[in-house]
Amino acid sequence: MPKPHDLPALLADIHREASDLFGQGRVASYIPALAEVNPHQFGIAIATIDGQTHSVGDAHTPFSLQSITKLFTFVLALKLEGDALWQRVGREPSGAAFNSIVQLETENGVPRNPFINAGALVITDILTTRYAHLDYALLGALRRLADEPGLHWNPRVARSERDTAHRNMAMAYFMKSHGNFRNEPEAVLDNYCRQCATEMSCAQLAQATLFLANNGRDLSRSGQPDEQFLGPDETRRVNALLLTCGAYDAAGDFAYRIGLPVKTGVGGGIVAVVPEVGTVAVWAPELDAKGNSVLGAFALERLVAATGWGHTSF
Ligand code: GLU
Repeated sequence: MPKPHDLPALLADIHREASDLFGQGRVASYIPALAEVNPHQFGIAIATIDGQTHSVGDAHTPFSLQSITKLFTFVLALKLEGDALWQRVGREPSGAAFNSIVQLETENGVPRNPFINAGALVITDILTTRYAHLDYALLGALRRLADEPGLHWNPRVARSERDTAHRNMAMAYFMKSHGNFRNEPEAVLDNYCRQCATEMSCAQLAQATLFLANNGRDLSRSGQPDEQFLGPDETRRVNALLLTCGAYDAAGDFAYRIGLPVKTGVGGGIVAVVPEVGTVAVWAPELDAKGNSVLGAFALERLVAATGWGHTSF
């Protein structure tokens, strides 16, 4: 790991270099409210398990987590269901777009993994059965992990996604026809759209995911006791899935370029886990053709090259 005093200078360099890439991607527009975001924003935050935090740029501006929430809902479902979960969702990379329907037909309504939309909908279906108010349950977990009591989901973004969620709804009905959906698709979609509309800053996201770098142990900074949020074995497995499936159909490219467990979202955020070291959250709204942040991916690639994190710790 670089010396602590080197990280701020490194982040400043990376931020400056990455800013040259503004204009190379496009802000997601299929959810109308996301298209209103100012594209020229870019933040990076690092949290380490030994208590350091570093940030640069717009690292304290809340953004729409979108698919990054799939990481947290998956962890909640894994805690509740254990291995029974794998009867309803697979754990293979899809090699297809995040919102692809095609595999569902040939694979009998069982999605490839929990991080593509179809798989995340099954996870939200599982949690809808378990929680009367899933949004409170999820926010409760996130507030605790991030040490941020004010975290919320954005009702305008949730409404905007819900009004245009035709493809996700189609997948939900299709899975229901195969017996892989327990609740009414409408109710699950309500929960899913609220979940995706959760907002956090890079600094908060890095903190909220730190347990994944720390063998599942959440390190509280607000005076509450630390908590074994997820078992060490489960944590290792979650990280393996993030490495292989966390970046849609660019997961192989991300593994090659960055080599860390990551989760990306169409809000332009990416969180990366450096096991035994810490977490890195990046956010810049302009996306490449596969729905991943252009500046964010570049920044992670540069950071890993400069620190060696991808090579030494996973
Ligand atoms: N809410 C988005 C959707 O379901 C999430 C997609 C993403 O962030 O990749 O399409």
